Amino acid sequence: MSQNREQSGLLSRYFRVSLLRRILAGLLLGTVCGCVLGAVPDAAAVFVDNTRIFGDLFIRLLKMIVVPVILFSLVTGAASISPSQLGRVGLKTFVYYIVTSLISVAIALVLANIFRPGLNMGIVGDAAVTGETANAPPLSQILLDIVPTNPAESLARGDVLPIIFFALVFGIALAVLRDSSDEKLAAGADRLLELCSACAETMYKVVRGIMQYAPVGVFVLIAAVFAQQGPKAVGTLLYVTLTMYVGLALHLIIGYGVLLRLVSRLSFLKFLRGAYPASLTAFVTRSSNGTLPVTMRVSEDSMGVPRSVSSFTLPVGATINMDGTAIYLAVCAMFIGFATGQPLTFDQQLTVMITATLTAVGTAGVPGAGSIMLLMVLESVDLTVTEGSAVAAAYAMILGIDALLDMGRTCLNVTGDMVGSVIVSKSERVLDESKW
Ligand code: ASP
Repeated sequence: MSQNREQSGLLSRYFRVSLLRRILAGLLLGTVCGCVLGAVPDAAAVFVDNTRIFGDLFIRLLKMIVVPVILFSLVTGAASISPSQLGRVGLKTFVYYIVTSLISVAIALVLANIFRPGLNMGIVGDAAVTGETANAPPLSQILLDIVPTNPAESLARGDVLPIIFFALVFGIALAVLRDSSDEKLAAGADRLLELCSACAETMYKVVRGIMQYAPVGVFVLIAAVFAQQGPKAVGTLLYVTLTMYVGLALHLIIGYGVLLRLVSRLSFLKFLRGAYPASLTAFVTRSSNGTLPVTMRVSEDSMGVPRSVSSFTLPVGATINMDGTAIYLAVCAMFIGFATGQPLTFDQQLTVMITATLTAVGTAGVPGAGSIMLLMVLESVDLTVTEGSAVAAAYAMILGIDALLDMGRTCLNVTGDMVGSVIVSKSERVLDESKW
C-alpha cells in the first residue's frame, strides 16, 4: 500500500516537472550516458541492443500521427477562411506568405550548402536497416506527382505532397460550400468542418500525450548516438543550431528588412521596436497561436494596422505562415542528409523547397509541431525514418534540441506575420502612418 503511494508520488512528481525540462534532462543524461558507454564498446553494444525497443517505440508513435495531423489541420485551416475574404487583401496576403516562405527556404538551403552541418559525421544505424537508395525523378515529374491519382492510396503510403494538395483542395471546397446560398448544404458543410476541427484537436491531444514519452525516447536514442559517435556529436548539434539561427537572422534582415524598406518605404528599426513584445512572447512560448492576442495588439497599437486587415492576416498567418519553420525544415533535412552520408542532390533540394514551403503551411502554431512535420519532408527525399536506421538516429539528435530550435523559428514565424499585415495595410492605403 505505502509502496503504491510512493510510486504514484514519484510519478506525479515526474509530471510536475515541465515537459521541456524533462526532455532536456533526457538529452543531457543520454549524452553523458552515451559518452561513458562509448569508452567501453562492449557495454555500448549491450546497451544499444537492450534499449532499442524504447527508442523504436517513440519513432513509431510519432510516425503514427503525422498523416492525420497534417490532413485534419490543413483541411480545417483552408476551410476556415471564408471565400468572401479571399478578395484583394486575401490574394496579397497569400502571395506574400508563399513568396517569403520560398525565400526563407532558399536562404536555408544556400546556408546549409555553405555550412554543411553534419558532414562526415557518418551516423550509422543497424547494419540491416539501410535507407532506400535515393533515385530522384525529374522535377517535372515531381510537380505532376503533387496531384494524387488516388488520395486514399497517398494517405496509406504517407506521400507528403499529394496529401497536402488533396487536403487543401478539400478544405477550399468546404469553405465555398459553407458560403453556399443553399442553407442545407451550408449547414452540412459547417458540421463537417466542426468534425474535422475536432479531429485536428484530438490529434494535437494525442501529440501532447506522445510527447510525455519524449524524455525516455530522446534519452535512449541520444545515448545510442553518443555511444557510437562519442562527444564530437555535441559540436555538430551546436553547429546545426548556429546554421539555423544564421538563416533566421538573414531572413529577418534580407527578407523582411528589405521588403519593408523597398516595398513599403517604412523603417525596419521602428518595426522591430514595435514588434518586439510579440516576437519575444513567441520566443518564450514557442507558439504562434498562443502569441496571437499579443501579435494583434502590437500590430494595431504600435504599427497602426487596422482591425479590418489584422483580423484576417494575423490569424491566417499564425496558422499557415511559418518562415522560421520552413528554414528549420530545410536546414534539418540537409543536416540529416549530410550526417547519414546521403547528402541531398540538387533535385532533392528542389523537392525540399516545395515540401518545406507546403509542410510549413500545414504546421500547427503550437510548440514542437515542426518537428513532427520534419518527418514528412524527410520522407519526400527518401530519408525515411525507420526504426534502427541512421536517419532515425540523426532525427533523434534534432529532437533532443527541438526546444532551442523552436524558440527561434516561432519568433520568426510571428515576426513574419506582422511584416505581412503591415505591408498589406500599406499597399491598401489603410495603415495609420502616424505610428511610424
Ligand atoms: N512552434 C511553431 C509555431 O508555433 C511551429 C513549429 O513547431 O515549427 O509557430
